[in-house]
Amino acid sequence: HIEEAGITEEYVGFATLPNQVHRKSVKKGFDFTLMVAGESGLGKSTLVNSLFLTDLHKDRKLLNAEERIRQTVEITKHTVDIEEKGVKLKLTIVDTPGFGDAVNNTEPITQYIDQQFEQYFRDESGLNRKNIQDNRVHCCLYFIPPFGHGLRPVDIEFMKALQDKVNVVPLIAKADCLTPLEIKKLKERLREEIDKYGIKIYQFPDCDSDEDEEFKQQDKDLKESTPFAVIGSNTVVEARGQRVRGRLYPWGIVEVENPSHCDFVKLRTMLIRTHMHDLKDITSDCHYENYRAQCIQNMTRSVFHSPLAPLSPPCVYPAPLQLRRMQQMLQKMQQQMHEQEL
Ligand code: GDP
Repeated sequence: HIEEAGITEEYVGFATLPNQVHRKSVKKGFDFTLMVAGESGLGKSTLVNSLFLTDLHKDRKLLNAEERIRQTVEITKHTVDIEEKGVKLKLTIVDTPGFGDAVNNTEPITQYIDQQFEQYFRDESGLNRKNIQDNRVHCCLYFIPPFGHGLRPVDIEFMKALQDKVNVVPLIAKADCLTPLEIKKLKERLREEIDKYGIKIYQFPDCDSDEDEEFKQQDKDLKESTPFAVIGSNTVVEARGQRVRGRLYPWGIVEVENPSHCDFVKLRTMLIRTHMHDLKDITSDCHYENYRAQCIQNMTRSVFHSPLAPLSPPCVYPAPLQLRRMQQMLQKMQQQMHEQEL
């Protein structure tokens, strides 16, 4: 590798560091957790299957209308290990059936995200920090119906409740129901409303100035196409002599992977090829960091009884067990020292 990198004796050798990191991370494998949310029947499972070419919901039980009314928001988790050219990806899909049907209760969803943060926080402060399983939710695809005239109150409520906890990526579902002009108008409207209601959706990072022109153009297209209008399909059909993933209608075929039919390829490129790492970084550096800071703040307040802090601070997030034990130990030590002094 040293020879490959064109390194001669004058070099110390740290130019191989990227190779070392590359090899190590490939060996370790990658993980990614994606949440899908939105009213049932908007094509969430179909889209996820189309994205990762895996049937994630083989044994899903579809509820009838009556059962859906009675149902509360329930969180289900499916994990698949996929491998491509020797690179392993542990993909977890978190589904939120029930939300947006009869119940518009975001609490179980925000709680789920917080629980994953809490678990990570505990593991990080525990003894086996090396082998932490990261279950934090890296991205949430939120499906907006194509039939309305913009955001519904439930869409605003959902995105606002989740915006500081996870990277929210809004999507226009079943885009084959709309003409290109209607898609354009709906996108403009949604962008305006997202701005107007101060909803913080996932922001694509700025492109580095030294990137090549093609990449810059791709990045610009990506930003201008939000919210992505997507189409999903579990079937392969024949179009122009080729077998493609698409939907066959009496009047023609809509191709999932045809950029002039919908933004599916843009979403897939963004999610898997170009921004997966950024989504993970933002989760870790921003959303998790906020949670962690809040937790530590709550704990230090209760340990040191700061006069500024209320005696029993409203604990937004429960203090992890491990750290609570440390607090108790600290208090005990302080007490013992105090007794010795006496
Ligand atoms: P979920 O309940 O949100 O997971 O929705 P499903 O993936 O089960 O899809 C519900 C129905 O919508 C199924 O009959 C799908 O075949 C259909 N469907 C899924 N994606 C699309 C799409 O992009 N366009 C259209 N027209 N129908 C779709």
